[in-house]
Amino acid sequence: MGSVDTETRLYTLAEGCPYADPATAQRFSDGSPIKGLMLLQDTQLIETLAHFSRERIPERVVHARAVGAWGEFEVTHDISHLTSAKFLNGIGTKSKTLSRISTVGPERGSADTIRDVRGWALKIFTEQGNQDFVFNDIPVFFVRDPVKFPSLNRSHKRHPATNVTDATIFWDFHSQNQEGIHALMFLFSDRGTPRSVRHVNGYSGHAYKLVAPGGTGFHYVKFHFISDQGTDTMTADEATRLAGADPDYHTADLYNSIAASRFPSWTLKVQVMTPQQAEAYRWNVFDMTKVWPHADFPLQPVGKLTLNKNPDNYFADIEQAAFSPSTMVPGIAPSADPMLQARMFAYPDAARYRLGANYQQLPNNRPAAPVYSPYERDGRASINGNYGGDASYVRATATRAVAFASSGSKTAAAFTPGITAHDVWALGSVAEYTSDVVEDDFVQARAFWRDVLGPQPGQQAHFVSNVAGHIGLANREVWEATFDMFARVAPELGKAVRDAVLARDA
Ligand code: NDP
Repeated sequence: MGSVDTETRLYTLAEGCPYADPATAQRFSDGSPIKGLMLLQDTQLIETLAHFSRERIPERVVHARAVGAWGEFEVTHDISHLTSAKFLNGIGTKSKTLSRISTVGPERGSADTIRDVRGWALKIFTEQGNQDFVFNDIPVFFVRDPVKFPSLNRSHKRHPATNVTDATIFWDFHSQNQEGIHALMFLFSDRGTPRSVRHVNGYSGHAYKLVAPGGTGFHYVKFHFISDQGTDTMTADEATRLAGADPDYHTADLYNSIAASRFPSWTLKVQVMTPQQAEAYRWNVFDMTKVWPHADFPLQPVGKLTLNKNPDNYFADIEQAAFSPSTMVPGIAPSADPMLQARMFAYPDAARYRLGANYQQLPNNRPAAPVYSPYERDGRASINGNYGGDASYVRATATRAVAFASSGSKTAAAFTPGITAHDVWALGSVAEYTSDVVEDDFVQARAFWRDVLGPQPGQQAHFVSNVAGHIGLANREVWEATFDMFARVAPELGKAVRDAVLARDA
């Protein structure tokens, strides 16, 4: 029904009526070789032009530029003591997946290799419904108060007057909102220009909760999908050159890799913390500008993600894909991280705007598990049968649900028993939260600069060059505050950045 006729490939109108020649518009002819005016009755012509004008759907305001693929997630280490989520239980358990890896700031047609964070989204089709992980390729974020999210992104986008991306508004925002310093350290390290999307990790950033079977207790976790290809990066010069010479570089790389059966994979690892440990920890676990140091909470392996199938059609499979942090199965629950809480609203809201209220019914988003939510029905392009005559209100009985004997379900709908979540929301001290920037906000950025980049040859020099090149594009009025911010990470870094910017300006 309504499918493309791939057997015979006879052209038809979109309504299925046969059409002889879709390549020639109908024109009035009196028999002479010179044909006359075109005819309004040419449905093919009008439909083709009208549909072309409507091909574009709203672009994602962030993460517009992306690459994606289908894949499989397999459990390699049992964590059934931590979570009741069935797709994480039982070594060898496999689930189908859909991945989408994106840049953040620029538009859908922009270049792949620009310096940016990469969004790392994964949909896992489980027997308990969809599980979405909407992660980034850096483990921390630029803000921890969601009210700043639109401002942050606008500062990375185009200036409202010039329509040009603008280093001045970028550094003005960040020097005035310095909780982002840790994320900036990653962005301007070489990880800001990955060699391919196969070579990036995916980090939850947020703390989530894994809920034990029976809903009796929970652990806080951070998820890490670590690339089995290793992390690999480009120099700023190479990334800039490729952005012009081959703007689809990452897209082609992933497609060609999968087409050649070189399937990229990632190992899922978790850091696990008890609520009591969270209470006593020196870092607020709801602050996504902070990592949990590996030495405190070691990474424990869980499973393996493999991307093994290219999209059949980019628009249908990847552009129409919708991922949301609110999409989670029993056994996984949100923490009180305000960024996570706000994203749980914002992402489905964006999907409703982009794709319509029935976006979950699209074939690429549709859960593998049975769906029954008849109190969500109608709306533009409902394609699931719209629940026939089933009751459209909660607590319907079978009798009330069936208006006419010949339609509707014959049994009353029930709710799945036993999926009540734990009842502890947030414990006392970890709930305390502030957006004010304090010295502690620079401790992990300093560890990154000195202990992670420091021992790796050339990495500190690249960082200084990468960041100075960008600051140099900004107006001088924002320089001093920016230099001061890097000096708070480490005095030698502040001096190196200042010297490099001034040397470029000389
Ligand atoms: P560790 O030495 O145990 O871990 C440092 C981690 O940094 C590595 O495991 C690696 O994470 C990542 N890394 C290594 N080289 C680079 C690089 N050139 N650019 C970017 N990231 C790199 O230290 P801690 O856990 O105590 O963390 C110290 C600092 O490391 C943190 O303040 C943070 O800035 C950074 N970091 C910490 C992570 C964490 O979750 N604890 C994750 C990533 C970075 P990976 O294997 O994930 O690539």
